[in-house]
Amino acid sequence: MRRAVFVDRDGTLIEDFGYLGDPDGVREIRGAREGLHALREAGYAIVVVTNQSGVARGVFRESDFRAVMESTEHLLGPFDAVYACFHLPEGTVAPWNRECDCRKPLPGMILRAAEDLGIDLAASVGVGDSIRDIAAYRAAGVRPFLVRTGNGRENAPLLAWQGFPDVEVVDDLREVAGVVLAPPPEPQDESPGTSGEPVPVSAPVVLDRAELARLLDVERSVGRTVVLANGCFDLLHVGHVRYLEGARSEGDVLVVAINSDESVRRNKGEGRPILPAAERAEMIAAFRCVDYVTIFDEPTADDLLRALRPHVHAKGTDWRAEDVPEAPTAREIGARVAIVGDAKTHSSSSLASRARGA
Ligand SMILES: [Zn+2]
Repeated sequence: MRRAVFVDRDGTLIEDFGYLGDPDGVREIRGAREGLHALREAGYAIVVVTNQSGVARGVFRESDFRAVMESTEHLLGPFDAVYACFHLPEGTVAPWNRECDCRKPLPGMILRAAEDLGIDLAASVGVGDSIRDIAAYRAAGVRPFLVRTGNGRENAPLLAWQGFPDVEVVDDLREVAGVVLAPPPEPQDESPGTSGEPVPVSAPVVLDRAELARLLDVERSVGRTVVLANGCFDLLHVGHVRYLEGARSEGDVLVVAINSDESVRRNKGEGRPILPAAERAEMIAAFRCVDYVTIFDEPTADDLLRALRPHVHAKGTDWRAEDVPEAPTAREIGARVAIVGDAKTHSSSSLASRARGA
């Protein structure tokens, strides 16, 4: 059985300008040619696996894809095989506008290639610039590498959040070849602190909106239900805990949006917040039920709902579903409003005044 290197195309082999249908737009990414050459010389089959939903979206045709691929192969080839997924359920062009098992993060293309070409997946590697690539390689059982070309640089810090804290991150395909083809290291003496225990990865505490939106695309694409909760969380109390746990139980992934210092001041007056946003965010991020935290500055969560498109918008029991200010926006994006948490009233404001009187 052969070993293979599976490679993503856009952002890994050639520059990613989005929906490339023009062979004259092909620009080689640094290190790709040298990396592929070294791996090919070492006996690895070169297999391109690429999502090309531009076909289902009607942005370009299959023949345009083939022309771009020919131009890519002229620069970087020869390739042993090319697998492309043209599907997208929300696309407009038949027969590609349907669910499939090949669109990454699903591993269909890799598994098919293994069968077609007789590839030993456990001895193979996969290279890409996105979390979808990494998820597909993991699912297929090949050794994944994230390259810092294309979107890789911005995706690298998100690996831990996505459950891939141990994926190797390298500059480009040349470095992949260097790592894969390096002679195995000499066995090291067992010394304290190198017990092979996984090193805890500290994930970023607060994500900006664009970064979070990208992550939630991945969450949705693997079928997870996304819940959005929001609040000031100025002085934590048990009502907050019950609200967040209730929110989390409405889905699989809980995003908490925290009011900025300025927006707390606007809502609650001078003297608030007591704690700065970065500290409030750090505490909320430490909750077991919370997956992602972001800070927002607007008076309501309407813009956040449009940007993040959660399946569920969870509000506390101080709201009635019909009075939730974001209800029309939730309806517009197809999100359900859920009222969750403890029916008893707890409040940071009364806690603050009691503390002041103490
Ligand atoms: Zn497909």
